[in-house]
Amino acid sequence: MGLSKGRLFVISASSGTGKTTLARELLKDDKNLVPSISYTTRPPRASEQNGADYYFVTKQEFSAIRRRNGFLEWANVFGHSYGTPRKEVEEHLKRRRNVLLLIDVQGAKTVKRVRPNAVFVFLSPPSKTELKKRLEKRGTESKKEIQKRLRVATRELRELNAMTNGRYLCDYRIVNRDIHKAREILRAIIRAESSG
Ligand code: 5GP
Repeated sequence: MGLSKGRLFVISASSGTGKTTLARELLKDDKNLVPSISYTTRPPRASEQNGADYYFVTKQEFSAIRRRNGFLEWANVFGHSYGTPRKEVEEHLKRRRNVLLLIDVQGAKTVKRVRPNAVFVFLSPPSKTELKKRLEKRGTESKKEIQKRLRVATRELRELNAMTNGRYLCDYRIVNRDIHKAREILRAIIRAESSG
């Protein structure tokens, strides 16, 4: 066998599903798992830090990276651009680290095309009502913005059944009823998929 590389885990979830909390906990416990820090043109929220949550860049900076093919994937989400840096992901994988990508469904579709062997997990809310409640509780978006996110979430659920390269987009689907259980399931998936 040649040198094995790390594995790429793509977690997609609608906004307000609890993915950020989940990822934070997973990363804390698993030293071989590293996050990919995305670039975004969205302004930072109060609690967010540049270089930790995202790299916050201008539209011009984002376009420049895109033009030099610096993104493994990128997408426009809720009026802002988001992209996964190609080089950083590749370097982590070469160092045999498992890499965690928290991206939207459009981005997951692109990754599926360019890296079909990645593991695709979709985290979904138990219901639309529950998702609405969580978004309202977070309080970071306006009413209009919440409506938009709910619409996108419904579309994303439909798109999940899409096939790319003759394979279904999603390898695993976790319904996040209980954050602790969801974390255990995700941990088990990562363990099972990183061996070999
Ligand atoms: P938020 O603005 O709430 O942090 O993220 C909005 C959406 O953009 C979420 O669904 C999040 O997963 C997604 N997102 C974050 N980074 C990336 C990225 O690099 N690429 C893509 N395609 N989506 C991303």
